Amino acid sequence: MNKAREILKDVYGYDSFRGDQEKIIHNVLAKKDSLVIMPTGGGKSLCYQIPAIAMEGFAIVISPLIALMEDQVSALQQNGVKAGALNSSLSKVEQTAIFEQIDKGELKLLYVSPERINNERFYSFIKRSDVSFFAVDEAHCVSIWGNDFRSDYVELGYLKEYFPDIPMIALTATADEATREDIVKQLNLDESILYLSSFERENIYLTSLPAQDRVKKIIRFIENQEGGSGIVYCLSRKSTESLSNKLFLAGINSSYYHAGMSSSDRSIVQRDFQNDRIQVICATIAFGMGIDKPNIRFVVHYNMPKNIESYYQEIGRAGRDGHISSTILFSNYNDFVQLSSFIEDSPADSTFKKVQRAKLERMWEYASGYTCRTNFILNYFGEYRHEPCGRCDNCRTPPLKFDGTIECQKALSAIVRSGEQLTMDLLINVLRGSGAREIYEKELHTIKTYGAGRDIPYLNWKSYITQMVNQGLVRIDFTKGNLLCITPSSKEVLTGERKIDLVEFVKDKEKKAKAKKITLKGNVDVELYEELRSWRNERAQKLGIPAYTVLPNKTLEGLSEVKPTKKDQLQDISGIGKMKYEKYGDELIALIAEYIQRKTSQE
Ligand code: ADP
Ligand code: ZN
Repeated sequence: MNKAREILKDVYGYDSFRGDQEKIIHNVLAKKDSLVIMPTGGGKSLCYQIPAIAMEGFAIVISPLIALMEDQVSALQQNGVKAGALNSSLSKVEQTAIFEQIDKGELKLLYVSPERINNERFYSFIKRSDVSFFAVDEAHCVSIWGNDFRSDYVELGYLKEYFPDIPMIALTATADEATREDIVKQLNLDESILYLSSFERENIYLTSLPAQDRVKKIIRFIENQEGGSGIVYCLSRKSTESLSNKLFLAGINSSYYHAGMSSSDRSIVQRDFQNDRIQVICATIAFGMGIDKPNIRFVVHYNMPKNIESYYQEIGRAGRDGHISSTILFSNYNDFVQLSSFIEDSPADSTFKKVQRAKLERMWEYASGYTCRTNFILNYFGEYRHEPCGRCDNCRTPPLKFDGTIECQKALSAIVRSGEQLTMDLLINVLRGSGAREIYEKELHTIKTYGAGRDIPYLNWKSYITQMVNQGLVRIDFTKGNLLCITPSSKEVLTGERKIDLVEFVKDKEKKAKAKKITLKGNVDVELYEELRSWRNERAQKLGIPAYTVLPNKTLEGLSEVKPTKKDQLQDISGIGKMKYEKYGDELIALIAEYIQRKTSQE
């Protein structure tokens, strides 16, 4: 373990382990199997990289995406660790170089895609090599219960059969229990120890807004991000393209990504985003697992996802580097109705539909709810928490409640008097005394509550009726064209036996809950930070690697705060290990000294 701590400092330049990292590494070093469940950005990679460096031989890391592998390998090489990846994009020469390193016993990590593993030749290669352990990244791909099943992962189950003595560590960010149990079964993990981390991501700020004026709001929001990268998730391929165009016209460096594009176009976009050449990607959920970019500052959902699992995974791509990151979820009642009818119309069996429906309802409850959003999610994942998080919109701008009994009575009475024949839209039109043709055709202008709520704006009514649905006072009949119906609880309200609190609808909530501006820590010299950043980006460009693998933002911040002028001082900056100390130390010191001198002579 001492060696592991030394590697943490020398190779990565970090002072302490995070969460369960130390325990997990201990387990791997003891040659036992482990299953690691950690949220995205939690620090899974170190859990296998450090033991791989510490142990004799080399570790085989199975990872599903080539782009992801290459980034990891290049980050390791930047830290002076001998690592390589075997995949289809490799030339013969590069392959030979990797095998030479293996023969010399230098290689510490070998990344391979799953389809490379499952053949006789590779098995015999493993047999005659000194493999310290297997690491299976994105392990949920082995299970049909996970959200990303891959058939070539299934055969990884044979590894334990052929090589019972080689330990295995499986890692994933998928939380649910069914998937977890299935991973252990499918991979034949041997009395593996489970490490389940908290799913709380303290640097992710949650905001949910009604889907009005989305484009305008998104543009304003992005303009506040000071160039930080982000993803906007859209439901359809077409909307990724049209939104991206609108952003582009507004002067935002954006592009789009969806499964209908050729794979070469997709990888170009992904690369450009990864290397900060594109600021914003408008994408369908096809843009996902391969994204290993640590400095994603925001994730926006243009439409509501179909369940909390997908939503949390998607926003989880923000802020892997631990810096504050913002998310906005746009949703409205129509999303909910549309997703419901997808479920209703699907050919799936009724049990499956019931589960999907329940999940969707929780998602809608989350989006339109007025309680702490972080707690909602943690409770959903079975982590009970009730202290307000202080960083979601509901915590930051607590909702204002009022006695809404009369409003509820007006709405309920209109539903009853119409014979439960109103959709949400129509109900609002009745309450507001609209002159729409449909109202006259259905003779709705003759009912007693027609126009009884004309003093309340449309969007407010929409919010109040949604709240009534969430409080169980109104039921939506999805099998009958989404007509609103009353429920047993509505009666007590109609008769005045029960009072109902509603939350005031604030139209410009997003102004108040405006994305927190990304500000650097108080003592950081912003000018120096910018100079260091351009130095780093130039470097990265020359080497053809992502900028953060040269030095992460956090390290640049540390440097611009401490302003070290002696090389030794660099060792106290987080993210500078031995390799980077040797490689960049002199240059950094010179750059900082020159900066300080320039500043003092200007004063
Ligand atoms: P995951 O694979 O779980 O999504 P990563 O392994 O990519 O997460 O880690 C996320 C970020 O946190 C990386 O930039 C990594 O270098 C950093 N990190 C991991 N462990 C530590 C630690 N103990 N101290 C400081 N930074 C860490
Ligand atoms: Zn909160």
